[in-house]
Amino acid sequence: MSTCWYIGVILSWFLIGCASSSADPQTVENPVDTTISSIPSPPDSSMVKPVSRPDTSDLERRLIEAGLVNIQALEPSIQVELKYASPDNFLGENVYGDIRRCYLQPEVADMLARAQRALQAKHPNLSLYVFDGVRPRSVQFMMWKIVKGTDQQQYVASPKAGSMHNYGASVDLGLATTEGVLIDMGTPFDFFGELAQPRYEERFLASGELTQRQIDNRRKLRAAMLSAGFHGILSEWWHFNAFSRDSIKQRYQAVE
Ligand SMILES: [Zn+2]
Repeated sequence: MSTCWYIGVILSWFLIGCASSSADPQTVENPVDTTISSIPSPPDSSMVKPVSRPDTSDLERRLIEAGLVNIQALEPSIQVELKYASPDNFLGENVYGDIRRCYLQPEVADMLARAQRALQAKHPNLSLYVFDGVRPRSVQFMMWKIVKGTDQQQYVASPKAGSMHNYGASVDLGLATTEGVLIDMGTPFDFFGELAQPRYEERFLASGELTQRQIDNRRKLRAAMLSAGFHGILSEWWHFNAFSRDSIKQRYQAVE
């Protein structure tokens, strides 16, 4: 009798052990969240912070506190690859840390969602593909420090002059297929040369340095953006402002 009882107990332990070791890792993590959030008034609030927003960096938290919105929360079909959040940019450095989402002023994010709808109404297989949105002044300052005294200094607005990106009212973007394959615009993003400048497109078409197809692709992007109220600029095919510079400075504060 007692031998059977012992075997029963050992079998129970074994079965409990198997059940917990085969559990989904996510279900193992959940009790940790539940335990912390179920404490009615934690004695030390700093202990709770990492759990409440485990994937939100300080920079991203500041953007949210400044009232900016994640454009993909508004329009999930817009594709985002923040070029300054990796070393794959003309600086060769990541100046955004672990931030991966693009933030804009709510009104500007609405305009971008409208541009995506306008694009997809005409070209259902295409999507906006965002390279950069708000760029806080602290990041602008880092970029300025990296390029100061180099040939690239001319391509970065000084923190004093400021960029409309600092206000969350400008966006850098191209087009991609809905599967995420970038569309050929004749140059990559942040190509610093005349070939990237819309004002010279006709000249480069005549010389054969840009094809009609590449110019048509830029026109598809411009048509969608302009229909939503954005303004293009003459020096970069990828950059669009939501309003005039004066209007942006009147409406918004620069994000620090
Ligand atoms: Zn830009």
